[in-house]
Amino acid sequence: MATSSTTGQQTLDSGQIDALRSTIRGEIILPDDAAYDEARHVFNAMIDRHPAVIVRCTDVADVISAVNFGRQAQLNVSVRGGSHNVTGFAVNDGGLVIDLSHMRSVWVDPEQRVARVEGGATWGDVDHATHAFGLAAPAGIISTTGMGLLLGGGIGYLTRPYGLSCDNLLSADIVLANGTLVTANPDHNPDLFWALRGGGGNFGVVTSLTLQLHPVDTVIGGPILYPIEKCREALQLFRETMASTPEDFNAFFAFLIVPDVPAFPEALRNQRVCGIVVCYTGPQEQAEGLLKPLRNFGPVLDAIGPLPLPMLNSMFDFTMPVGKLHHYWKADYINELSDAAIDVHARFGPEVPFGSSTMHIYSTGGAVHRVKPDETAYSYRDADFVHVILVAGEDPADTPRGRQWVRDYWEALHPLSAGGAYVNFLMDEGDERIRATYRENYDRLVAAKRQYDPTNLFNQNQNIQP
Ligand SMILES: Cc1cc2nc3c(=O)[nH]c(=O)nc-3n(C[C@H](O)[C@H](O)[C@H](O)COP(=O)(O)OP(=O)(O)OC[C@H]3O[C@@H](n4cnc5c(N)ncnc54)[C@H](O)[C@@H]3O)c2cc1C
Repeated sequence: MATSSTTGQQTLDSGQIDALRSTIRGEIILPDDAAYDEARHVFNAMIDRHPAVIVRCTDVADVISAVNFGRQAQLNVSVRGGSHNVTGFAVNDGGLVIDLSHMRSVWVDPEQRVARVEGGATWGDVDHATHAFGLAAPAGIISTTGMGLLLGGGIGYLTRPYGLSCDNLLSADIVLANGTLVTANPDHNPDLFWALRGGGGNFGVVTSLTLQLHPVDTVIGGPILYPIEKCREALQLFRETMASTPEDFNAFFAFLIVPDVPAFPEALRNQRVCGIVVCYTGPQEQAEGLLKPLRNFGPVLDAIGPLPLPMLNSMFDFTMPVGKLHHYWKADYINELSDAAIDVHARFGPEVPFGSSTMHIYSTGGAVHRVKPDETAYSYRDADFVHVILVAGEDPADTPRGRQWVRDYWEALHPLSAGGAYVNFLMDEGDERIRATYRENYDRLVAAKRQYDPTNLFNQNQNIQP
């Protein structure tokens, strides 16, 4: 069938699209197709972009064809994994989207404790496949995120004991801008392997990732919530907890509005609270002692208990529905959760505006610190924490008010931060912020970009310019 696709940026003629169609087993979705609107939408409801063509790949051959097509037609190329990046880099106006969302298989080798994961899998897919063998890979805290999380680093419940998600990458297969498929690991293309561990989607389309797994099955985890009036002391308690507990005790701090769902006591719903979310993977008989200070601090809700890791990894998914909320984020690394920083949190945190808006402080200590800053592209190996302040609400009319809260809060905290931000929490904030994220590793990333993507075909990302 002859078709043409015209968008803001490019016009593709029917001959080009027919030629593409002859090489693709998956779906080719054009602006007039019924599936187009669903296919162009991403996690952040604020993003409303109109690509010229979306190729929903089924296999590596489709990815190679799509990359060659994008290069030859000189289109902007986006790569769509889990679609969660709040910038909306997974889609663009007028270009090509290489959509991996149908490439989600996970193979587990329980003997070797490794998993081979397709590039479009979500962390929920990985949890599901690995948990059957009592194993897990370090993921984030929401199960619908995709492999873009690992390519930028990957901070979550298992970070302290087992490192970033990218620290557990053993090997990756990647389709480069010239359409060739290469393997990156310590023995093959080690410079590319270095760049993939933190450098984001800059180097090509990752079609499969081999991950190191760990024996994590049932954990002691969940949230413990405190009255908002006690937030200053709760932050001090969080700081002391992270300094005094072993690495297999991980936790993050949060300001939040208690969701209006039956899982929470009625009196708490819609109340502003603060809390600590725990994930303990150590010997269960020691959990009670470690949790005692948190439990003695007067919680309004204590939901910490034994549960399968995939349940903890997906516990808060309902607060972050895909495509429903309008998001705006700002973040930074922190060397020290100082009294001055706690003062700022105590001033802005209780004003958390609406919906699923929140402020989280994650630990980036433990195993993260044991990797040297120049061993992977992810550079902030010395920071103890990352904070992210985000607004997320259903009504776009609320966004300006929420965005102002995020900006004011962030601006007050930024002078107390380590300087750069975790790349996966950045919005479209410009080159300076990207450089500040990679620090001394930036020049080596540029060298890798020159080698593997010299024309910057993959530029819909926190871009390293060749
Ligand atoms: C609700 C929510 C919760 C989050 N929680 C965490 C968390 O706990 N920990 C954490 O570290 N981060 C977290 N993040 C941030 C997350 O790591 C980033 O948004 C990340 O980019 C998401 O990857 P994705 O594949 O889902 O998204 P996408 O938007 O599909 O991808 C983001 C970018 O990654 C690249 N990319 C993705 N897949 C591939 C691939 N296979 N090959 C090549 N490039 C690819 C592309 O450049 C793409 O533009 C969260 C984000 C959201 C929205």
